[in-house]
Amino acid sequence: MAPPSIALFNTLTMQKEPLVTAEPGVVRLYVCGPTVYSYIHIGNARTFTSFDVVVRYLRYRGYQVHYVRNYTDVDDKIIKAANETGETPVELAGRFVKIFEEDSRALHLVAPDVSPKVSDHLPEIIRIVEALVAKGVAYESQGDVYFSVSSYPDYAKLSKRKLDDLCAGERVAPGEQKREPLDFALWKAAKPGEPAWDSPWGKGRPGWHIECSAMSAKYLGESFDIHGGALDLIFPHHENEIAQSEAASGKPFAKYWMHCGFLDIEGAKMSKSLGNVVRLRDALSRVDAEALRFFFLSTHYRHPLHFADKAIADSEYRLEYFYETLRKVDERVAGKDFGQGPLHGEPGRFLQQFEAAMDDDFNCPGALGVLSGLFGQMNELTDKPPVKDKALVGRTLQALRENVRKLSGALGLFEDEPAQWLLRRRDRAVQERGIDVAQVERLISERNEARKAKNFAEADRLRGELKGQGVEIMDTAAGTSWKVAAPVAETA
Ligand SMILES: [Zn+2]
Repeated sequence: MAPPSIALFNTLTMQKEPLVTAEPGVVRLYVCGPTVYSYIHIGNARTFTSFDVVVRYLRYRGYQVHYVRNYTDVDDKIIKAANETGETPVELAGRFVKIFEEDSRALHLVAPDVSPKVSDHLPEIIRIVEALVAKGVAYESQGDVYFSVSSYPDYAKLSKRKLDDLCAGERVAPGEQKREPLDFALWKAAKPGEPAWDSPWGKGRPGWHIECSAMSAKYLGESFDIHGGALDLIFPHHENEIAQSEAASGKPFAKYWMHCGFLDIEGAKMSKSLGNVVRLRDALSRVDAEALRFFFLSTHYRHPLHFADKAIADSEYRLEYFYETLRKVDERVAGKDFGQGPLHGEPGRFLQQFEAAMDDDFNCPGALGVLSGLFGQMNELTDKPPVKDKALVGRTLQALRENVRKLSGALGLFEDEPAQWLLRRRDRAVQERGIDVAQVERLISERNEARKAKNFAEADRLRGELKGQGVEIMDTAAGTSWKVAAPVAETA
């Protein structure tokens, strides 16, 4: 079978290129993971969700994906935070690894095959630093080891920066032992009170960048297929990873570089100084995790994404529509036998359109557009079928539902039971709007009595009364259900 023709934008060449992996059918992918010193923010969550969909889609397409995402658990920020909380750096990092894993599960992120930690890979890190020193591209200076940027001619090939521009205004800071301003630390001599490991250069700890070179080489090989991360990692982190890895191995490092765009808050860059950093954990306490995922996927991963409460609320309404459709279709056709025969309107075409969108640099907004078409057809077939043949309609609905199942795995959407998701959504809306559930249920049963007595005027009045309280009721074959209606201003 011919491999799927997936194209992806490669930051290294600044071009969309066909995905051709070193080993046919296998993708080796490394993504820079979190520095575990605090809660991650929603910009981080967007990045990890983007690569989650890359992994899911490649697997959907039949690739065997080796997915490695690291934890940076040795870092200045961790030491500083631990000094503030009174924990040891190891304790603090361990606590935030657990928190990150909980948040990842809430977001339905697939677990990487390997999640290596820096603190477990000191021998590998020291070995690569030794190799760089032996090759003369790194030097020791009073217990620190620096990479000598001027001895690596390809430096800045990813960020396309000019060395002269980078040097302008750069100075070696007091206390640094490096020869040239652009040189960066591979190893730092121990300072009092900091975690430190034995090395050929005395006690110390690794610089930030070297960990990804060491851990990707260990788990994926010195050359591998795709390296991913957020846009702000291109310089200097990814640039330095390339320099270290290629100088040490003499081989090309990652073939494709994928970078996820920024996320801003209501049009402003998220920053500590502006005080507008939104933690994923806080966002998850307010909005549905799947609505957040849906919101992330509604913009192409390379484009900037504007976070706003209104946009999240819209995603949640959209998702509610999808889940209501699934519930309705399941009620109608799940587990039923409509026999063999033709289908209406080629349900398989949605899969082809979905794949065409996703093959084109993981175009999730395009894929969501295809989903809208698919759900539109399911709604039409359940509510106003254009054909009379009930078996034909049933078979087609089953085929469409099966397609939703296939697509949802690739996007990480609709993994919940529709009824459960809708109930959770309703509970949250009830709380937010202060709706009295007992009263709603009393009015609904009064309305059912009125309908039984054929007192339709009273039934309509009761429906109106519920509407006034923000409650919308739906009469289905299974009885009357209700949901919290969208506020008028928000849906107008
Ligand atoms: Zn990295």
